[in-house]
Amino acid sequence: MLTVSNLSVRFHTDEGLVTAVDDLSFALQPGQTLGIVGESGSGKSVSTKALMRLLPDYAELDANSHIVYQTKKGAYVDIARLDARSKALKQVRGGEIAMIFQEPSAAFSPLYTIGNQMIEGIRLHRDVSRDQARKLAIEMLDRVGMTNPELRVDQYAFQLSGGMRQRAMIASALVMRPAVLIADEPTTALDVTIQAQILDLLKELQQDFGMAIIFISHDLAVISQIADDVLVMYLGKEMETGPVRRIIRHPQHPYTQGLINAIPRLEELDRPLLPIPGDIPSPLERPTGCVFHTRCPHAADHPRCHTDVPIPAQTQPDHLAACHLLTEKVLEETV
Ligand code: SF4
Ligand code: MG
Repeated sequence: MLTVSNLSVRFHTDEGLVTAVDDLSFALQPGQTLGIVGESGSGKSVSTKALMRLLPDYAELDANSHIVYQTKKGAYVDIARLDARSKALKQVRGGEIAMIFQEPSAAFSPLYTIGNQMIEGIRLHRDVSRDQARKLAIEMLDRVGMTNPELRVDQYAFQLSGGMRQRAMIASALVMRPAVLIADEPTTALDVTIQAQILDLLKELQQDFGMAIIFISHDLAVISQIADDVLVMYLGKEMETGPVRRIIRHPQHPYTQGLINAIPRLEELDRPLLPIPGDIPSPLERPTGCVFHTRCPHAADHPRCHTDVPIPAQTQPDHLAACHLLTEKVLEETV
């Protein structure tokens, strides 16, 4: 339903052009949950904002980028090619693909009640009266588990607790019945128990509405609770993609292995944590060759890592990894 190919995004900065997303390709199936994981600065948010053409003015989408989306009515559009002011793009935003964020203040204005903002959104996409829209808003607030939805609808976002604000934002995103929900770190600011409730709610709503979800997090443990597949990103590039369970148990890529070794586990409290050595390089000093080579434990023994960009290769039919060592292994096995 959504096929992203060769997506590259660059930022114009005072210090020159900076690559935020580099040649990213992935596909999303109806009803699937794709997790995108990576440290901050990995390009997770930028790449999904590009899907809705919500990039800031200083960002530039590379001419080779394609974002082919099949609408609910079955038509194909390349979102990367839509005019910024077109009706088609307005329909995609909200009506087809909706987004929720870590910080509900990004979605709710402090000047309007939750109800007024939801009603406005509904009427932008659907030909209904204000009263009908208000009814739909209340139904949706109820559906996401808000107590007293008739009362909440007239409140402002700042009057709600963190968990309730998050529920209101989900209601506001889903009231248009999007086919794709992009959830950008929606639980990062919440306590673990509330976080678990929100993840459960999203799974439940996904079952009911049949939507696909792109779930972004810096936390692989959270991704493993909700996603079917995971895309691991580093400095704007795909490192590894595959079924989440397999990647957690048998990560192929050295970066994914590093992420997993750094996760504390309750059942192994005496295991030393192994953080990935070094810091993420500045995007202004993007490493040559494999972007991970400045921190990869294998790079010193492999000159290619410093000079050649690894291309994602299939280690299994549904599993891709971009690493020279793995490409060599795959080649040996096929010869
Ligand atoms: Fe490490 Fe080289 Fe693989 Fe990059 S290509 S992850 S530097 S081994
Ligand atoms: Mg982000």
